[in-house]
Amino acid sequence: MDKDLSASPPSSSVDFSDEVATGKRSLSRNDDELATGGSYEMDLMEQVTNLCKRRGFIFPSAEIYGGFRSTYDYGPLGVLMLRNVKEAWWRSMVQLREEVVGIDAAILSTPKIWEASGHLASFSDPLVDCRNCHERWRADKIGGVCPSCGSSDLTEARPFNLMFKTHVGPVENEGTVAYLRPETAQGMFVNFANVMTTTRKKPPFGIAQMGKSFRNEITPQGYVFRTREFEQMEMEYFVPPNEGRRWFEYWCEERLSWYIDLGIPREKLRLRHHSPEELSHYSAGTADVEFAFPWGWDELEGIANRTDYDLNAHSKASGVRLDYFDQATGERYTPHVIEPAAGATRAMMAFLLAAYDEDEINGEKRTVLRLDKRLAPYKVAVLPLSKKEPLLQLAHSVLAQLQPLVMCEYDDTQSIGRRYRRQDEIGTPLCVTVDFQSLEDRAVTIRDRDTTEQVRVPIAELDQAIQQRVCL
Ligand code: ATP
Repeated sequence: MDKDLSASPPSSSVDFSDEVATGKRSLSRNDDELATGGSYEMDLMEQVTNLCKRRGFIFPSAEIYGGFRSTYDYGPLGVLMLRNVKEAWWRSMVQLREEVVGIDAAILSTPKIWEASGHLASFSDPLVDCRNCHERWRADKIGGVCPSCGSSDLTEARPFNLMFKTHVGPVENEGTVAYLRPETAQGMFVNFANVMTTTRKKPPFGIAQMGKSFRNEITPQGYVFRTREFEQMEMEYFVPPNEGRRWFEYWCEERLSWYIDLGIPREKLRLRHHSPEELSHYSAGTADVEFAFPWGWDELEGIANRTDYDLNAHSKASGVRLDYFDQATGERYTPHVIEPAAGATRAMMAFLLAAYDEDEINGEKRTVLRLDKRLAPYKVAVLPLSKKEPLLQLAHSVLAQLQPLVMCEYDDTQSIGRRYRRQDEIGTPLCVTVDFQSLEDRAVTIRDRDTTEQVRVPIAELDQAIQQRVCL
């Protein structure tokens, strides 16, 4: 919860949801324009949002009714990619670590949690009204001027709580109020004792969780960068109090490396440490992993040293002891917490922006998403050279052979060149082409997205060849 000290989200109020499929445009990369919101970068934003709509990554929600307030639906490719982003996070944060376990806490939650955590009192953004055009804005993002009409006749800023309130059950009164969680973090703090006793973990250990969060943002912006419904990936890492600083530094480096490992170029990422004035009162250190978004550097993830603030707050409010007794030393202490808090939907957008490329193959322009193979929606596309039997039957048997291994697509429409381009555009790392020769030699061609190189592989050895190239 860093509402009072958030790094700048996009100040542009461009609505990227209104996309029209446009023709390909040749983009010449100018590195000086990176992170400065230059024209190359704004073109890139348009290209990526167009691609997402045209190819089924992300659709504006309720589009047939004219859309619904900056909400988005993840289409057939988007759902695969978002799952891959979360899977990559879970693998690195839970699967590969012996001291971290996962949970999946409820989204509907009692006001008691949010009262204790401080969200009811202060999870708010400063809201101003423009007296001229009556639009409402987040005061800290507009520099005193209404982005809609340019007027500086604004009301005094007042706090606007971002939590979505609802009622549980058929009766609507004070006693039935509940909130949709605005972050996944509190579900982990309130389960601290449950997890510690059931798993017998001792500090340093972590609880990880990913899932939907909801914030009634005053101005959702930047496509899926800031939406009211989004997905988070957060981890609470409980450490002995005197080890807080060391683990904070450790997690800053780990989290930065995660994005680099998954293909974002180092120069498009930076770690920005918050100044002492920016720090929230409970934080002993906060840093943001920032990405060079088309409008400039902006937050992908926050890493905070939250000290013992959260466990103490919940312990005090609930009357339940939330501490750790070290049997070896006879010492009892409240662990300090290091929290790497990332957005899954925001990270997916950064991966798409970083992967978008255009190049030329044999004099022909192509669009290619150079996604890491772990993030690509489909790993393999099976493409028969012709729609005629018995080729189709063989192609379907190759597909059935590969489906248990990886997500595959099958495409038998239009020319093979067009089909390669379609797969390049959605980032499919490999195409497997079944041709007439395959009927004779029981072999197929594997084509690589990035190099466009092709190799002939016996169908009997195809599983192994695919596994080597696209599995971990
Ligand atoms: P911001 O300053 O962008 O409002 P924050 O500092 O309030 O973000 P945190 O509360 O630290 O964000 O949330 C952790 C992460 O969750 C953010 O780094 C971001 O990736 C993601 N996130 C937060 N709010 C949103 C949102 N409205 N839409 C999409 N992702 C979000």
